[in-house]
Amino acid sequence: MTKFSHSKHPSPTSKERIAEILKDPGFGTNFTDHTTVIDWSESEGWHNARVEAYGPIILDPAASVLHYAQEIFEGLKAYKHADGGIYTFRPFANAERMRKSARRLALPELDEQAFVESLEELVAADADWVPTGEGEALYLRPFMFATESFLGVRPSKEVTYRVIASPAGNYFGGELKPVRIWVSRDYVRAAPGGMGDAKTGGNYAGSLVAQQQATEHGCQQVLFLDPLHENAIEELGGMNVFLVTNDGRLLTPALTGTILEGVTRSSVIQLAKDRGLEVEERRITLDEWDRGVSDGTITEVFACGTAAVVTPIGELVDGDKVIASTGTGEITQSIREELLGIQTGTVEDRHNWLHKLG
Ligand SMILES: *Cc1c(COP(=O)(O)O)cnc(C)c1O
Repeated sequence: MTKFSHSKHPSPTSKERIAEILKDPGFGTNFTDHTTVIDWSESEGWHNARVEAYGPIILDPAASVLHYAQEIFEGLKAYKHADGGIYTFRPFANAERMRKSARRLALPELDEQAFVESLEELVAADADWVPTGEGEALYLRPFMFATESFLGVRPSKEVTYRVIASPAGNYFGGELKPVRIWVSRDYVRAAPGGMGDAKTGGNYAGSLVAQQQATEHGCQQVLFLDPLHENAIEELGGMNVFLVTNDGRLLTPALTGTILEGVTRSSVIQLAKDRGLEVEERRITLDEWDRGVSDGTITEVFACGTAAVVTPIGELVDGDKVIASTGTGEITQSIREELLGIQTGTVEDRHNWLHKLG
């Protein structure tokens, strides 16, 4: 057990204002009154665990995160169930992944128990901020960054871990509409030996220009390709990808080190196996996708991640041509409903994925 000290926000948000925010939470724009913090230094290790008022961070301009991007993060959601409890989904998987990301970015590892406790502490302080509308949740964002003031290039000897929370609505807004995806030909997200399988801000920074191109072409997300194998697909900027075949198989790119292993991805694979679908994790090319959709052997394509859960992919735009188009398929719809049902407490949690935060 990590001992957290508590200092309450001096002027917390009014009940009326919280109600107003929760009416239309959006995504990532409103933050709760508190934040969990744990400091680390080379000499003291992890120390000074606390819950304090949400507010600006004072950083030295030479703090190494600002220059060399030594930073990692996580993302998970807390749902309010009918029993009044607040539950999150597989937080120990996020904790484990954060340790993996920490190793890749030469950051200190925070143990799983402390990670989960840091979420419990924040949710206890800000329990009023969990929205209750359909598909709505309190999005939890743990992150860790290098704070030492030093311009030399080596791992920081001072690090801060924090958690912030933000009420979240439906990620793409409204009903389940297939998204339009832009195939990035000018930029790759990750290469072998790079940071593709770590959840780090740098991967996102590198994806922004590709995302700009996508937006210019009327697309919501980017599909990144394998840098080594021509036309093999990897993942979206922040979501994993699945294809469904007409003979009951679920295809997804194999984890080769350049793809982030989504907790949603692992859960979808398990749920698919539970219902007798055969899951193939392997190399998948754009040609296979294109041909499959054209000849009817690929019936559905979807993306998945914590923020959007499961989202159908409609059109895939590759330069001047739209190479494939599927709508919202039955399997996409029903896996989404099952997963969201488990997360929100309306479907039996037979794999023990839920963790009660408060
Ligand atoms: C976070 C993330 C995902 C999805 O992971 P989940 O654990 O399912 O939310 C997929 N790809 C990238 C690059 C990510 O950063």
